[in-house]
Amino acid sequence: MDTPVQFLKGIGPRRSEILAAHGIRTVGDLLHHVPFRYEDRTRFRSTVGLRPEEWVLLRGEVCSVRGVSGRRRGFSVFELLVRDERGTVRVKFFNQPYLRRVYQPGVRMVLYGQVKRDPYARGALVVVNPECEILNEDGEGIHSGRVVPVYRRLGDLKTRTLRQILHEVVTGLPREIPDGIPAGLARKLRLPEKGAAVRQLHFPEFRFRRPEERDRELARYNSGSSPAHKRMIFEELFNLQVAIRMVREGRVRQVKEHTIRLDDRVRTALKKILPFHPTEAQKRALGEIAADLGSPHPMRRLLQGDVGSGKTIVAAQAAVIAVENGYQAAVMAPTEILAEQHFYSFRRLLEPLGYRIDLFKGSLRSKEKRLAQERLERGETRIAIGTHALVQESVRFQRLALAVIDEQHRFGVVERNLLREKGRRPDVLVMTATPIPRSLALTLYGDLDVSVIDELPPGRQPVATSWLEPGERPRALAAIERTVREGHQAYVVYPLVEETERSDLRAATEAAGELGGRFPRVRVGLLHGRMKGEEKEETMRAFAAGEIRILVATTVIEVGVDVPNATLMVIEHAERFGLAQLHQLRGRVGRGADRSECILVGDAGPGGEARRRMDILCETNDGFRIAETDLELRGPGEMIGTRQSGIPAFRYANLLRDRRALEIARVEAERFVAGLLRRPDAESRRIAGMIRERWKEHFGPALS
Ligand code: ADP
Ligand code: MG
Repeated sequence: MDTPVQFLKGIGPRRSEILAAHGIRTVGDLLHHVPFRYEDRTRFRSTVGLRPEEWVLLRGEVCSVRGVSGRRRGFSVFELLVRDERGTVRVKFFNQPYLRRVYQPGVRMVLYGQVKRDPYARGALVVVNPECEILNEDGEGIHSGRVVPVYRRLGDLKTRTLRQILHEVVTGLPREIPDGIPAGLARKLRLPEKGAAVRQLHFPEFRFRRPEERDRELARYNSGSSPAHKRMIFEELFNLQVAIRMVREGRVRQVKEHTIRLDDRVRTALKKILPFHPTEAQKRALGEIAADLGSPHPMRRLLQGDVGSGKTIVAAQAAVIAVENGYQAAVMAPTEILAEQHFYSFRRLLEPLGYRIDLFKGSLRSKEKRLAQERLERGETRIAIGTHALVQESVRFQRLALAVIDEQHRFGVVERNLLREKGRRPDVLVMTATPIPRSLALTLYGDLDVSVIDELPPGRQPVATSWLEPGERPRALAAIERTVREGHQAYVVYPLVEETERSDLRAATEAAGELGGRFPRVRVGLLHGRMKGEEKEETMRAFAAGEIRILVATTVIEVGVDVPNATLMVIEHAERFGLAQLHQLRGRVGRGADRSECILVGDAGPGGEARRRMDILCETNDGFRIAETDLELRGPGEMIGTRQSGIPAFRYANLLRDRRALEIARVEAERFVAGLLRRPDAESRRIAGMIRERWKEHFGPALS
């Protein structure tokens, strides 16, 4: 498995370079390059009864050969007559004169190609430029007479070459190869042996002969649900779950350097800051967080709650517990606007306690930045709130005990780790409003404890959502008018896609002008990513204060913005937004006790996918249902963002298709790791080693 590919027959330095460029260095890597499709090339047609235009697989012996050079230079035709048990067929190759050396009378061959009428032979039938294979003495071939694998090409290594190389490798494979599933477990789940599975995956041998049965088996292979596929999928999911479990076990064994107590003084401070009665769900989440903070082991907790469920106050309370114990807390958010919003909310909420809170963002002037850094390092600043500017090297804490990361899927693993390294084993709370379907949560956050706020603050009503065709826009304007008349505020959101940025920006600017003309008595604001930090800040402040009544914005307001008096959200070109994004945007309204409305203006367009997105939004406000639909429509990678956001790169598994296997893998992985810790045997140690090697890049030093 560890043999470098360049030692394989048929692979020289050039080919091994191509393979390396695709991450394939060893035999093991090469075996993971599995076919994306299979063709059943076992059913040979007879040369009798061929019809023009059909594709046929024929097997026979060359009985005569004729070469014709064309009149034009460089043009040649080479013709064979191939005979099978019942008759003969003509085969023509254009411009491949070298074939003359290969195809001589008596050679046994298989050919796959399309039957044509030959205009040069009065319409007689001929197979032109077929794909051919010469058979060995036993009449066997690699590319025919079997179910053949079709591989995705790698550089200029095409499927045929890869098939040859892999055939060589698979034939030379020892019977047993290192297995990532304990033998007992594989037996229990009736999974085929790994060696057999690998062989089947590349060169399947079907059990059945009857065409219908073969078709069914072929369909299983092509959809990745053959027993061989299932076995590889399970191994991958099981190994990832074991890795997650090992990371978790490693963490719960760590001991913090700071100690946090939840005494009466802290309780009093907590009570002081509450502007409202927390919901039961908020109380429960805070209880779980407080218990983690008080425990000797570092907290790694995910706080999940739909938009508007009230995560901010919970995070603020966690910060109070840390600060009252003499430590510092940090809150990191993905955008400046959101960081600013947190900064103002925290300042407002924590005012009664008189903590010093500082904002760290990229656009600070250098003097301000230096002063803030000095205050933080001296310990004068108790809570630092900011964007990724917080993880810059020059930012140093005196005693950081709690790191809060908001909308954490927007950050890369690196940034998350950097923030953590600002303290000595700080407690970490990550928050997300993106409801994550269970299958994804298990893989992404399996190593975290989870608290869910599954209840909205009292008095909230679902946001009534409707969808208008672009021609019906006047109805959206009427809604804006009504909203403003009733003293409420409205958002009008335009998409901003990089490729069309200029025209999008123009559309938003024009809309702001137009609305300004239409509603001359109210102030209309414009907010977009190109504005300077101060301008944005001033616009947001004016909107939050109710001075601006209509805010035209690009998606910079997507996350976190909180203005309860805003009750209308109009989303232009809704078809260009993803489902999760639309749900987030809609979450900017419906944050107070008043009835709120969201109007999607968009073209469903062809294909119906945009229509499904808009329909589901009109139907429900339930973030989990929306997320499930999103996962189905887009797949996990797209849904959460880029690779760096923490989705593992699977070779075999597909989180959507393989949800059931994932559940089993999780349970078995827990059992496996428990056994590994209690009484490790040679097999479980070997498997654990394999898993560390496979997933070390993904998890970093935590997996050790
Ligand atoms: P999110 O979970 O989306 O971050 P926020 O923390 O911004 O939500 O809270 C949304 C709004 O609900 C804010 O205006 C907040 O003050 C308010 N809120 C949160 N919890 C409660 C509660 N228990 N009772 C009343 N209002 C609440
Ligand atoms: Mg929030």
